[in-house]
Amino acid sequence: MRFWAALFLVVACWNLVPGLARAGEGDRLVILRDAETEETLRRLATPVFKAAGIEPEAVKLIIVKDPSVNAFVAGGPNLFLHMGLLEATPTPEQLLGVIAHETGHMAGGHLARGSEALRNARIETIVGILAGLAAGVTTGHGEMLGAALGGAQTVATRSLLSFSRDQEGSADAAALTYLDAVGVSAKEFLAFMQTLKGQEDIPLDRQAPYLRTHPLTHERMDAVAAHLQRTKVSPDARLGPAFAARHARMEAKLRGYLHAERVLQETKDRPNLEVPALYARALALEQTGQLAPALSAVDRLLQKAPEDPYFHELRGQMLFEKGHVDESLSDYAAAAKALSRAALIRAAYGHALLESTTPNHLDRAISELTAASGLEGETPETWHLLAAAWGQKGAQTNDPVDRGQAAYALAEEANAEGRTQDAKRFLAQALRLLPEGSPTRLRAQDLHMDVNSASHTDE
Ligand SMILES: [Zn+2]
Repeated sequence: MRFWAALFLVVACWNLVPGLARAGEGDRLVILRDAETEETLRRLATPVFKAAGIEPEAVKLIIVKDPSVNAFVAGGPNLFLHMGLLEATPTPEQLLGVIAHETGHMAGGHLARGSEALRNARIETIVGILAGLAAGVTTGHGEMLGAALGGAQTVATRSLLSFSRDQEGSADAAALTYLDAVGVSAKEFLAFMQTLKGQEDIPLDRQAPYLRTHPLTHERMDAVAAHLQRTKVSPDARLGPAFAARHARMEAKLRGYLHAERVLQETKDRPNLEVPALYARALALEQTGQLAPALSAVDRLLQKAPEDPYFHELRGQMLFEKGHVDESLSDYAAAAKALSRAALIRAAYGHALLESTTPNHLDRAISELTAASGLEGETPETWHLLAAAWGQKGAQTNDPVDRGQAAYALAEEANAEGRTQDAKRFLAQALRLLPEGSPTRLRAQDLHMDVNSASHTDE
């Protein structure tokens, strides 16, 4: 289980698309999980969702490990943002404009052409399908054929994700009302459109996919420009310095992650780096396997901000990755305490406690992993770790209830991965072992009903 150890928690999508092998290094079928980046995006998007009358908690924000510029809504209220988009939007206001546009599609109930195919697909499946389309160009076909397939890939991506011209216009119109409602000028949204417009002359296969699924017409840009003339929101109205700082840290993390060599070159022999640059350097050092210098860079960050929970998270994770599990605990504890709502961090702490050599950490591991699964119930890895923790506990106590807890966690894991038959089997075990009326038994009964009704409608 390296998932929890990675900086950007990597949830690979396995065998979800026929013909695609298990995802590995270099494949693009990857969703990135990073507590800080997700929190930044969540804070950015929440006021826009509210302005659109959408329940913010209902929307999943998914970061796709893909360097191309793209954003889309698919398979329900799921907003997918490519890392390339996060990187290509130099200000939080530009990113906000794109989020507002996609929110306009969501609020308008627009159905992309591929909606039927993707309607009930799991998030990993959607990413798998799209990555499969993109990967077709480069895997196994050779350069010549790859070039020939470029057009087909473009058409496939376009037809799956694209909206009608009218829907593009209405998503823009909605985006402008949301930006007005949150008091941010659409000037930066227009700037983003202009940047994309500049790509129209380069070959199709090198253009941002966003440009292909959201064709930029003069009408669209004129409408935004006209709105800027009309609106009461000042052209200088922005998100404020706190967002600028969060955005700078997000960009720094992405740079360190995506362009490690370049970052190392740029920050070499510079003793007085500001926080974002030092953050980028720490991550770049870690990316390139230089853990000792990476740790000392994080220590420098912690000298600047001793309370920063994300620096503690990073330090804990680096130590954990290096095998210093017990040493990672105090950093993880600090991060988990400060960010008690961050499921990823609670789970990472729980994982470290579980792997710790100190035996009395098991109960603490169970409580952290239980908290993490309560905050985010659809993450199979958390359930997997929780099952392992209860399994260890059961081996110590020989108490059938502990084994029942493990079976329930395995059922949740199986259900989160769409393995219905396994889920049913583990639930039967759990219901045999857990005492009548206990909270976990009640949850197991609920899941049992969900699983049975879902498989009934499938068949
Ligand atoms: Zn659109």
